[in-house]
Amino acid sequence: VHPTAERRDTVVLVDSDRTTYTEEHITAKFTYRGAQVTREGGDIKVTPTKEEFEFRTKRKVPKLGIMIIGLGGNNGSTFTATILANKNHVTWYTKEGIQVPDYVGSVLRASTVRLGTDPGTGKDFHLPVCDLLPMVHPNDITIGGWDISSLPLDEAMRRAEVLPYDLQRQLVPLMRGIKPLPSVYYPSFIAANQGERADNVIPGLSKRDHLDHLRKDIREFKVANNLDQVIVFWSANTERYSAIIPGVNDTKEALLASIDASHPEVSPSTLFGVAAVLEGVPYINGAPQNTFVPGLIQLAESRRAFIAGDDLKSGQTKMKSVLAEFLVNAGIKPLSIASYNHLGNNDGYNLSAEPQFKSKEISKSSVVDDMVAANHLLYKPAAQMAKESGDPKAKPEHPDHIIVIKYVPAVGDSKRALDEYYSRILMGGRSTISIMNECEDSLLATPLIMDLCLLAELLTRVQYRTTPEEEFMPLYSVLSLLSYMLKAPLVKPGTEVVNALSRQRSALEQFLKACLGLDNSGDLLLETRTW
Ligand code: NAD
Repeated sequence: VHPTAERRDTVVLVDSDRTTYTEEHITAKFTYRGAQVTREGGDIKVTPTKEEFEFRTKRKVPKLGIMIIGLGGNNGSTFTATILANKNHVTWYTKEGIQVPDYVGSVLRASTVRLGTDPGTGKDFHLPVCDLLPMVHPNDITIGGWDISSLPLDEAMRRAEVLPYDLQRQLVPLMRGIKPLPSVYYPSFIAANQGERADNVIPGLSKRDHLDHLRKDIREFKVANNLDQVIVFWSANTERYSAIIPGVNDTKEALLASIDASHPEVSPSTLFGVAAVLEGVPYINGAPQNTFVPGLIQLAESRRAFIAGDDLKSGQTKMKSVLAEFLVNAGIKPLSIASYNHLGNNDGYNLSAEPQFKSKEISKSSVVDDMVAANHLLYKPAAQMAKESGDPKAKPEHPDHIIVIKYVPAVGDSKRALDEYYSRILMGGRSTISIMNECEDSLLATPLIMDLCLLAELLTRVQYRTTPEEEFMPLYSVLSLLSYMLKAPLVKPGTEVVNALSRQRSALEQFLKACLGLDNSGDLLLETRTW
């Protein structure tokens, strides 16, 4: 068994009076420290703040089902194949020899956190992220879902052309019996070229009937597989944006009324979101469109349901959220970022239509905004631009940022991403960094889908309170802690988006440690800097 797929019964026991263990829960007290900053004349006043939290995590992991919308797609079929290969210990021959299945690329299963120092050796102690708190093992996930294409999963895997032949050959008997449920198909939302796949569609035109049908599918899947928890994941084609129309989708009441009226602007992905929220199961959007219209966010808030999105941050954007942060934090000023992609899978085919490309372009373009806005020494803020240009509506200074995506069938799922970072360095000098990245898109996406679902499941078991008199509360509906895996993270309305990858990872690590009552000052390493 590959170490990333190993099953361990490790329990982290924190020896502190602030962390308590019962059979049912891990409860930890945590002091959340921050600072309030104000300008006072020419000075800056900083007031340290602190708030006491208590986090309570349910220890029993549920029997988990994941329902994928777009199950027969490249990601859906590769995800299913990966879980089944690991679960059934399927090994296969490659030209380099025998290959065992793994979960490489998963932050939870294949990366570690530094817990502290071993007093015996004085060395750092690192633990797999998935061993910090009780989490579902991916091999135990039950998979189901919907697709507008009726191909059973063995054939969908063959159509995807992602996995090597000798692995596919052995997975056929395990995948053959999995057939996607019929789905809702509203042709105006995805590219017209997808019509040829749509042979597995829920009949009728009433969106209310479709909603009821999807809700019943979720309930039946849960019962049939004897599951404690289900997560619904959108891995279907990228849709065009939905228009946000007052009275149609801007409030929860309006959205539900629009479903009753079969309003044309209610997209399939939003309808699935409503179904999941009404069934009380988490819903994650792995594609870029604005599934989470304000009415759906409101509905999730009112039901204390969990949602997360948007769009998987797998390759180019992940690099960008590292590189742009590195450059700007190094005091170097990117002047332009030009990103070019070509790919030949069905995702690329769908994105070759303008409205669907637009969704992807929007999702990819905001990724450097927070890093740029954080450095007013290199980039002029809006007020300064307005003053200099005389235009009160002037935007803050920003590097030129362009995104091109082209469909090239020959390269299949093996996406090519070329990026050029052109920056200003010392004394007006220039630096150009070019990156060329080529790999199977679905092999990057699969571990992200897994991490998103397993983390979302864990977060449904974490509750908090700020005073001992209060009842424990679930976390806020929008699970922004999942941002690390998402290209355009959805956050609590009115709060700032963090795109920088290291900050996203740090937030996740700190949160998981906080649930154990551990704070994260480890990188201070004061013992190495003092006498
Ligand atoms: P794909 O085209 O191979 O799969 C999508 C599947 O969704 C198809 O089988 C299609 O028949 C199905 N589908 C379309 N509309 C549907 C509906 N209304 N209901 C149910 N099924 C429907 O694409 P993919 O490569 O698997 O990618 C899936 C999604 O993930 C795309 O939106 C893509 O943009 C997004 N994404 C992928 C990556 C990546 O692969 N690295 C990264 C970021 C985002």
